[in-house]
Amino acid sequence: MTYQGLLHKYGHLLDLPTHTRPVSLLEGNTPLIPAESLSRQLGGGFELFIKYEGLNPTGSFKDRGMTAAVSEALGRGAKTVICASTGNTAASAAAYAARAGLKSIVLIPQGKVAAGKLAGAVAYGAQVIQIDGSFDDALTMVVQISDKHPICLVNSINPYRIEGQKTSAFEICENLGAAPDWLCLPVGNAGNITAYWAGFKQYDGIKATGLPRVLGVQAAGAAPLVLGHPVEQPETVATAIRIGKPARGEQALEAAEESNGRIIAASDDQILDMQRLLAKLEGVWVEPASAAGLAGLAIEIAAGRLNPQGKRIVAICTGHGMKDPDIITRDMAKPQIVAPNLAALEAVILDG
Ligand SMILES: *Cc1c(COP(=O)(O)O)cnc(C)c1O
Repeated sequence: MTYQGLLHKYGHLLDLPTHTRPVSLLEGNTPLIPAESLSRQLGGGFELFIKYEGLNPTGSFKDRGMTAAVSEALGRGAKTVICASTGNTAASAAAYAARAGLKSIVLIPQGKVAAGKLAGAVAYGAQVIQIDGSFDDALTMVVQISDKHPICLVNSINPYRIEGQKTSAFEICENLGAAPDWLCLPVGNAGNITAYWAGFKQYDGIKATGLPRVLGVQAAGAAPLVLGHPVEQPETVATAIRIGKPARGEQALEAAEESNGRIIAASDDQILDMQRLLAKLEGVWVEPASAAGLAGLAIEIAAGRLNPQGKRIVAICTGHGMKDPDIITRDMAKPQIVAPNLAALEAVILDG
């Protein structure tokens, strides 16, 4: 049978109201890619898989939650959806709203959204508003306006977003036949770590697939859950996790604790090094935030705090590298220029 999207496949496992009217772009069903070279690079002796969420329809995992949230909003009779976003939520909300025939409004922190994300939101027809403030300021504003007006909030405070995002845990268990030993992922507003933990627990309850230990990774300049207090001015190149007051921070800490895992921080350099390593060793190019989970894994293995021997580890790579091309192009040497003839080409590529 052809694939018909997440609500069709997993709707019976998701807590969604009966009025829900499915809006789908055939999201989900993303590949779990074995990463043998990267595993060897990190010392070897363990199985490593990349859950490549950048291959969702708008290039990030946000589509899993958005199909659920927009389907519920449409069924309820909503005409407009709104969100605050570091970029990927905006692109996803705009795409699903377009598909449903709804209006979308997205609030983004001024000057801090990657080019590919902003372009997406515009292309899908959203009303894009820049806030002269942080993501956290924008989130406060969309909560207030959706309380006061009939506008549906589709940030991950919306419980249906979490329901939809649980499906990735289901897919991993189905692909591997069991939960992995460790799950590594970036943590920003903490909706995704919350959803994975809920999804693994639910699937274990149904199919006894076991539970992973969860390693959540924040960027060092935006690490409220590691520091134990909000960060007023979060700063990191990993703009998707540039968040100082995670809406689901408590649940993220619970997921880490209950799973016997933890939440740690990775520096921007460690994140960017992992982004490059993953692209060069495995041919998987992800945006900076998406490399944070693997950067954290590398840190823990190197420090001897996580022994991967004989283990099966899944890293969630949340968004595609093409969302944020500037990170690569800003530092790159300009490609070589060669005269349009064979001799010139040979001189350049056949040295010695
Ligand atoms: C949204 C996002 C995150 C963070 O997810 P949270 O649910 O906010 O913790 C990480 N990476 C990418 C690419 C994202 O778009």
